[in-house]
Amino acid sequence: MTSLADTPSEAWCHRYIYQLTFSTKQCIHCDGKLRFRRNYAWCKLCRVKLSAKASTWLRHSKLSYRQIYQMIWCWQKRKPAGFIRDALGISYTSVQRWYARFRKHTPVDNTEKLLVDLVEIDESFFGKKRYNNQKIVIGAIEPQTRRIKLKIIDDREQETLEGFVMANVATETVVMTDSHSSYNDLDFLGYTHYAFNHSKGEYTNTNQIENLWGVIKRYMSLR
Ligand SMILES: [Zn+2]
Repeated sequence: MTSLADTPSEAWCHRYIYQLTFSTKQCIHCDGKLRFRRNYAWCKLCRVKLSAKASTWLRHSKLSYRQIYQMIWCWQKRKPAGFIRDALGISYTSVQRWYARFRKHTPVDNTEKLLVDLVEIDESFFGKKRYNNQKIVIGAIEPQTRRIKLKIIDDREQETLEGFVMANVATETVVMTDSHSSYNDLDFLGYTHYAFNHSKGEYTNTNQIENLWGVIKRYMSLR
């Protein structure tokens, strides 16, 4: 997202804020998959209705999820309170109160994350499809220190890839990825994002992570 005019739908913003609030995209009761609507999320498994606004820090809020999302965006972009007052029509004191909440409730612990100013991210398939044991692995590497993070993932949906990046890479970091559309909103989450089209041979900027896949696969085939 490059400006407030690009703010996603109410249901999308609800999903984002739910994930931020409960640190999961699943049902908090049964881990089931959720369908997000404007005002509630619906669990396909236990059929319970959930809402991010039921959490304590959002309770009684009259703002829509889009408005909260827009404020989080402004906060991450370090926009002054006056900008939001003018753009969203929210009072100056109210904006300051929300900024204080964001500081308190949005993750700021970067100690476990890959910190240095450039991180390469990529996914790779492991195992053989015909033996039905193929897995997708997502990895991030910090070339300067060679620190890596790897995770087996179920799919390459936007929330899966974003979840990995948000959990492992500090915001404000420059990230290099392939051109998979699930990475499209990384800018919006506070990263400086460059995508490279692997099918057009643009590999130079994700060299290190590509090398890592090669090394791991060679090692596995020798065992
Ligand atoms: Zn459930």
